[in-house]
Amino acid sequence: MPRASTPDGFGPDESTPDARRTGGCRAGGAQRLFASGELARRAERAVALLAACTLCPRRCGADRLHGEHGLCGGSRHAAVASYGLHHGEEAPISGPHGSGTHGSGKHGSGTVFFAGCNLGCAFCQNHDISAPAAARDPATRATPEELAAVFLDLQRRGAHNVNLVTPSHMVPQILEALCIAVPAGLDLPLVYNSSGYDAPETLELLAGVVDIHMPDAKFWDPATAARLCRDAADYPQVAREAIAAMHAQVGDLILDRDGVAVSGLLVRHLVLPGGLAGTAPWMAFLARLSPATWVNVMDQYHPCSTALDMPELAQPPSVRELDAARRAARDAGLTRLDPGHERRAEALLRALLCGPVRAGK
Ligand code: SF4
Repeated sequence: MPRASTPDGFGPDESTPDARRTGGCRAGGAQRLFASGELARRAERAVALLAACTLCPRRCGADRLHGEHGLCGGSRHAAVASYGLHHGEEAPISGPHGSGTHGSGKHGSGTVFFAGCNLGCAFCQNHDISAPAAARDPATRATPEELAAVFLDLQRRGAHNVNLVTPSHMVPQILEALCIAVPAGLDLPLVYNSSGYDAPETLELLAGVVDIHMPDAKFWDPATAARLCRDAADYPQVAREAIAAMHAQVGDLILDRDGVAVSGLLVRHLVLPGGLAGTAPWMAFLARLSPATWVNVMDQYHPCSTALDMPELAQPPSVRELDAARRAARDAGLTRLDPGHERRAEALLRALLCGPVRAGK
């Protein structure tokens, strides 16, 4: 059975004023597909892919229906490392800053952390749960009924959405669980929070089901991707096609009147030292997709896992590199850059100038 985690992270800022407002409605694509019977058909098609697994671009062919584990560690059932309300995602995902736990997100995002991963970055900050061995651990195994109960528990606890973290190798299991959770009342927006290493046929199964696509845009250079992600030289091409397909499914990010996302695309780009992420071409690509693409240029890289032993990844990017990355995003013409780094800089400055804030002062 998956276990609930405690809230962590620090909270997002208020949403930018240029977002469209929709009046706080819930998204409901999965409900419509369930009512028509299409959700069950999609689940069936997705489960069939597990027989000689071609669910992700690795296409490793593991027979996950009969006891084999793929390169990602996945087998027949979902593998869930933990779940819980998370207040440290972007403001449109966790909720606007200021009123929730730890003074951050209002209600929080209902994160479900799947164990295992189909990409396997050398610098993964969740390497303890993304390693294939974590997905093979019987303690993480969840039946469709158990995964559906997780989704419903997050809704009961007030989550703004169900945030499926590292879901690419678990799409059939997610669809099976939705076939149980939706008729039981689940009506939160679904967030597909992936590395961007997603196969087009698998993304098609999610059309109309997922409300918010939140992919990473990790590397532009195939040789870098091969070196840092278990020989995945095709990552840049796959991710570009996946992000374009996601945008075609859900469009630009749309917020409700409280600044919480109800649908659309939000892209994360982690700036790496030495220009390894290829920030400038990624920003140009995303701006061509749409200048209104919501992009989080992330500054929090720190070496961990096997990256500690890799000289090119053994230090965080410099202040100059981070400034250049943000400038590249602005110069590309992107108009909706996530303000999270400004909030972190303000908090750091405040701490340096004033020291820790005490209660009651
Ligand atoms: S999802 Fe896992 S089992 Fe399926 S092709 Fe990808 S790595 Fe292999």
